[in-house]
Amino acid sequence: MPDIGFLNGEFMPLNQVRISIEDRGFQFGDGVYEVLRTYGGVPFQLNAHLERLERSALAIGLNMPVNSSKWEEWIREGVKRAGYPECRVYVQVTRGVAPRDHLFPNRTTATIVMSVREMHPLNPGLCDAGVVVITMDDLRWGRCDIKSINLLPNVLARQRASEAGAFEAILFRGDTVTEGAVSNVMIVRAGHVITPPEGMHILSGVTRQFVLNLAHKDGIPVEERNVSLREFRQAEEVFLTGTTIEVLPVVRIDNALVASGHPGLLTKRLRALFLEHIER
Ligand code: PLP
Repeated sequence: MPDIGFLNGEFMPLNQVRISIEDRGFQFGDGVYEVLRTYGGVPFQLNAHLERLERSALAIGLNMPVNSSKWEEWIREGVKRAGYPECRVYVQVTRGVAPRDHLFPNRTTATIVMSVREMHPLNPGLCDAGVVVITMDDLRWGRCDIKSINLLPNVLARQRASEAGAFEAILFRGDTVTEGAVSNVMIVRAGHVITPPEGMHILSGVTRQFVLNLAHKDGIPVEERNVSLREFRQAEEVFLTGTTIEVLPVVRIDNALVASGHPGLLTKRLRALFLEHIER
């Protein structure tokens, strides 16, 4: 079976999925999504992803046509059909197909799509050596807690990072660091892990919460509070979290090294704890 596609309850090869050009996702970005992955063939933190999908849908007034147990059944079925050693699952719900009009349509049902592809882990060399990030103005809207499919500012930021030879763009509003274009960000200072608080300016990352729980359990003090750009640049350690990148050390910000320019001890500890948990 090639990569798996799914449209409104029906599985098919990914390249056979067809969507109307009048789908509101296509014309307005009027929809929400999730990306999750498997470890050992089992979807990781599935409930947390499904809860966030429901929260996102509710926040934009989109009626979720099915409940979490149906989603779970579809996702597990997609993973089984794909048969890859590890899968990366993308799910998207839009407000459906209707003649183009900004107002919510009256009688349209949501469009549900899913893709299941092989999950290729990040190059282990990158995880060991750490990555470079650039900093950029956060040009996104005021509800970054909603996992909306409107990703143009994130696309432009990640492209700018790539063109600068960096892995990720770390965004800031005024003087305050928010998150990466595709990741949450954490710093270490005096033995404390510090990360911007949940709220409307960041996505409540599933991995972010998972890593904070690991830190708590390991007795590492955690602070969820604002981080200024200046504090970010002076951090002893910096790392990113995300579904596909797990815990990823940052060793350079713009043109300056983070501390000695090597992944820090606490970052390595949290990465090891994360991988240990996965192994188990
Ligand atoms: N922040 C943004 C903007 C993201 O797009 C993502 C992941 O896609 C994350 C954070 C990390 O979230 P998660 O750990 O749930 O993958």
